[in-house]
Amino acid sequence: MILYNDILGTVGNTPIVRINKLADHKRKNIFAKLEFFNPGKSVKDRIALNIISEAEAEGKLNKDSIILESSSGNTGIGLSIVSRVKGYPNIIVVDKNCPNEKIKLLKALGATIVMITTEKNDSEDLTERRIEFVNQARDILDHVFVPNQYENPNAPLAHYKHTGQEIINFMEETGIYFKAIFISVGTGGTISGISKRIKEFDPSIQIIGVEPLGSTLFGGEKGPYLQQGPGNYFQPKNLIYHDIDLGIKVSDQDAFNMCRRLALQEGILVGGSSGGVMHSAIDMCNEIAGNVLCVLPDGGEKYLDSIYSDKWLMEKGVVVEQQNINDVHILNIDGLTDYSEFIRKLRGVVLKDEDQGTL
Ligand code: PMP
Repeated sequence: MILYNDILGTVGNTPIVRINKLADHKRKNIFAKLEFFNPGKSVKDRIALNIISEAEAEGKLNKDSIILESSSGNTGIGLSIVSRVKGYPNIIVVDKNCPNEKIKLLKALGATIVMITTEKNDSEDLTERRIEFVNQARDILDHVFVPNQYENPNAPLAHYKHTGQEIINFMEETGIYFKAIFISVGTGGTISGISKRIKEFDPSIQIIGVEPLGSTLFGGEKGPYLQQGPGNYFQPKNLIYHDIDLGIKVSDQDAFNMCRRLALQEGILVGGSSGGVMHSAIDMCNEIAGNVLCVLPDGGEKYLDSIYSDKWLMEKGVVVEQQNINDVHILNIDGLTDYSEFIRKLRGVVLKDEDQGTL
């Protein structure tokens, strides 16, 4: 066993697992790197730690510094963890599309939260408005350090040094080599860092970027999308296209239904960008002669009231393929000591027997 001197020591070295039931073929050649094993439950802990550590090493932070960043939520959570350990106050600028669960986590982690809101189109991406706010605030507030995940080279470097290297170590240690790696794209930090390291190791490994349909990182028409975290309407400096072989788009419908399937068939609870990446990999894996790795950016706990809520999906017009996320069966025990009737019906519910299945 290892003693970690603080929680930051547990960032990275996330596991890779085999996907067993989802892909409709016998080769079992799809694998997933689970970034929700990081302490903030997402890939973004890696960049938060690297950006702040490097800024400290470069003398850009002092005891009066305030960390200020725009985030769809996960970078904010990562930065809040790093800020608490290192003792800096921090301000996180989110927008009204940020899931409530992420806001609650930011609060619990002691961040000062600013939420940008508008009465306009429901699913319009507000990233650029958040960045505008940060740029104005940095000029007015004193002692502010802006990590700037969209441009700071220490974001992709975290993935070059660690995530990409971990994938190479896995291949060398297990003998399981990947022909293609599917990576979700937002700021570009993850894909740019991993692709640079992987192409140095073996340029024939395909790097495939995945963005929401409606995002314009790989061109196409701008439109609304519900996947939180990936995608943008502008091309961040940290998105380096040089080592990306292909950019593909995935609809909310396909991404969210794949989240449901990952949970129900593999027991892997993840967010929408992970569903998008897995959907794309399963769609294309028969064209790829060899093993495929999906980097899954975050866990599903932050989306229980959205992706994992039938009601929310239906309100948003997403068709739910597997509406079998189970109800809670309530047993009122007032004046009741014999539960046998309830239990007999429960058997029917578990076995999905329609005749007996109503409690
Ligand atoms: N998925 C989720 C859930 C995210 O939070 C992010 C980052 N905002 C991404 C995907 C995209 O990662 P990157 O910014 O490194 O391109």
